[in-house]
Amino acid sequence: MTIPFVDLHAQYLSLKDQIDEAIARTIANSSFVRGPDVEAFEAEYSQLMEAEHTVSCANGTDALYIAMRALGIKAGDEVITTAQSWISTSETIGQHGAKPIFVDIDPVTSTIDVSKISEKITGRTVGIIPVHLYGQMADMPALMSVAHKHNLWVIEDCAQAHLATVGGKMAGRFGDIATWSFYPGKNLGAMGDAGAITTDDPALARLMACFARHGGLIKGEHEIEGINSRLDGLQAAILRVKLPHLAEWTTRRRSVAKRYDKMLADIPEIVTPREVEGREHVYHLYVIESEDRDALAETLKSKGVPTVVNYKRALPFLPAYAHLGHRDEDFPEASRLQNRILSLPIYSELTEHQQDIVVAAVRDAVA
Ligand SMILES: *Cc1c(COP(=O)(O)O)cnc(C)c1O
Repeated sequence: MTIPFVDLHAQYLSLKDQIDEAIARTIANSSFVRGPDVEAFEAEYSQLMEAEHTVSCANGTDALYIAMRALGIKAGDEVITTAQSWISTSETIGQHGAKPIFVDIDPVTSTIDVSKISEKITGRTVGIIPVHLYGQMADMPALMSVAHKHNLWVIEDCAQAHLATVGGKMAGRFGDIATWSFYPGKNLGAMGDAGAITTDDPALARLMACFARHGGLIKGEHEIEGINSRLDGLQAAILRVKLPHLAEWTTRRRSVAKRYDKMLADIPEIVTPREVEGREHVYHLYVIESEDRDALAETLKSKGVPTVVNYKRALPFLPAYAHLGHRDEDFPEASRLQNRILSLPIYSELTEHQQDIVVAAVRDAVA
């Protein structure tokens, strides 16, 4: 029996009739780009995420790009972000001619080490982009006080953290703007690319909506130059079927993770994810650490258990940033972690039987 790393088909089957109906309805209406389901989805997403405004867009990368554009980023600015994330977080800074200033990670949560932010702030710093990596939030209360002290904007990259909380407050409720991805494998996934931006600020919301839609909300009326980054009707219709299930899927992910924690606890070669007191992790990924990561991954693969490394190289060490001249010792925690991390299969539909097979394979591999 092989176990998929992510099982998108299982989720589809659980809602097949409703999803098929939503797709057929959208085709019958020909509402392919924006349309009634897009507007309804934006309202429903705002309500669930407790935000005043949702601006949908084509994907989570565009969401970051558009958010920074609305905050007035310009060439030569510096934006502080974490050393450990998917490249969307930093590449969108560079796309505005600005410079990503990486900060090392906290070794417990793999999110930005807030105590190391202040030393990186210069006269050119305009904002901070924390990432709630793997589904656990960064230390947002502490980060927001640094941001307020230095008058910096904050964009929360929530692509992996739908419904995560810190101190009972949800991801996306701290910064000026939050960005979301509905890439199929994310905790809330479309059947193609999709993304959104949330904010409480009506002026920012309007500017972002304009920018994402060729600079205007009314066809033919272009107030500014924009881009084309719209949510399509099929994705919105599918996301509307899935949205009411996000909370129960999140609970299920958390119980799968807790079961892994328990079953793997007595294996000294493995470090399981650490959920910090007061933070509710939503386990987009279940990332373990092992000294001998590559050998472990190989053995698991031979036993039919797929794993992924998220991510093989921390951002400062990617060829894309070679020109910045970063060295391992500049980011000791990110540099150490990139060789130790391994993501095990996790999703709400993962059965106990499948999980038992994964755990048995891990146990065998380290024996
Ligand atoms: C997935 C992801 C993104 C980008 O989302 P897309 O929808 O794939 O463009 C951005 N940041 C993080 C941390 C992500 O995991």
